[in-house]
Amino acid sequence: MNVSQAHLLSLANRRVVAIEEHGVTIMAMNRIQFQPGLSMPEFLKDYGTEAQCEQALEVVRWPEGFRCSRCDGAAHYMVCDGSRKVFQCKTCRHQTSLIAGTVIQGTKLPLTVWFLAIYLISQAKTGLSSLALKRQLGVSYPTAWLMHHKLMQAMAVREERYLLDGKVQVDDAYLGGERTGGKVGRGSENKVAFVAAVSLSEDDRPLRVRLSLVLGFTMKAISAWAKDHLAPASAVCSDGLSCFGAVTEAGGSHHPTVMAGRKPREVPEFRWINTVLGNLKTSLSGCYHAFDFQKYAARYLAAFSYRFNRRFDLRSLHQRLLIAAVTTTPQPLRSIRIADVRC
Ligand SMILES: [Zn+2]
Repeated sequence: MNVSQAHLLSLANRRVVAIEEHGVTIMAMNRIQFQPGLSMPEFLKDYGTEAQCEQALEVVRWPEGFRCSRCDGAAHYMVCDGSRKVFQCKTCRHQTSLIAGTVIQGTKLPLTVWFLAIYLISQAKTGLSSLALKRQLGVSYPTAWLMHHKLMQAMAVREERYLLDGKVQVDDAYLGGERTGGKVGRGSENKVAFVAAVSLSEDDRPLRVRLSLVLGFTMKAISAWAKDHLAPASAVCSDGLSCFGAVTEAGGSHHPTVMAGRKPREVPEFRWINTVLGNLKTSLSGCYHAFDFQKYAARYLAAFSYRFNRRFDLRSLHQRLLIAAVTTTPQPLRSIRIADVRC
C-alpha cells in the first residue's frame, strides 16, 4: 500500500477512516489497528537469549534490586543450581529463583520459550489458540495449553484489580452452543451466561470492558455482580431486563432504555456494548475452534477483556503481560484445570 504510515495515523485520529487509493476504498481502520506493535525481529533482539530473559525477569521482579521474600534483606549471593540462577539471602539464607512465586514457577522450559509465548499472546490482536501456540513454540499440545491457561489466568487476576465507573453500558450475553460464540439471546440452549459491561468516557468513547460469568440474570446475581465490579457512583444503562435494577444496590444509578420491540443491537444507546460483543464473537470464532465453555469461559472472557482494555498500548503489551505473570502467584494444576468463578 503506497500510503505513508504517518499519513494513515493522522487520518486515523478519527475513529473510523476509509482510505481511498486509486479511487477504491481499500480498508477502514482506526488508530488502534494501525498502531505499531513490537516486531518479531525487535522482540528477538531484546529477548532472544536466556541471559536476556533472565535479566528482564530480574528487573520486573525486583525493580529496585533483589529483596528477600522472607526478611526483606537486599544482600545476597548467587548460587548455581544447574542452569537456573538461585539467589541466597545473606541474612536468613533463604533461597529463591527468578520464577519462584510467579505463575511460571516450576517450569522446566527455557525462559526464551515463555517470553516468546508472552510475546505471541500479547501481539495477537484477536487472541491465540493453544494449538497455534503449540505450533509456534514447538512444544507439545498439553504444554502449550498449560502455558496458555497460566498466562490467561495472570490476565484474569490483573483484570480483577479494576472497577468500572462513570457511565456503564450493560447487557445480558451468552456463550456456548454448537456454533462457536453460541446463540445469542435469552432462552437459547446449552449456554453460559455472562454480564457484558463497558464503561464510557464523557464523550461516549469506550474505556474499559468487563465480562463476568453469572449463574443467571436474577436480582441476586446482578446485585452481587454490581458490588464486585462497579464503583459506587456508576450510572448504568441497560435494556428493560428487570434484574439490572439491582445495580443500585451497589450505590449507583440505573437508567433502563425502553426497547419498544427493538433488540439491543438495533439501539444506538448500546453501540459500544454491541461492538464489544461483536469483537468477542470474531475473536472466539477465529481463534478457538472448541473449548469447554462451562469450565473455561471465565478465563477466555478475562483474556479478551485484558487485551481490549490495553488496546492503545500494543507496543508494551508483552512487558505488561510479563509483569502480570510475575505478580500472579503459582496456580496449582487443579485450579488451572477447573476454572469457573461466577456470581
Ligand atoms: Zn532473607
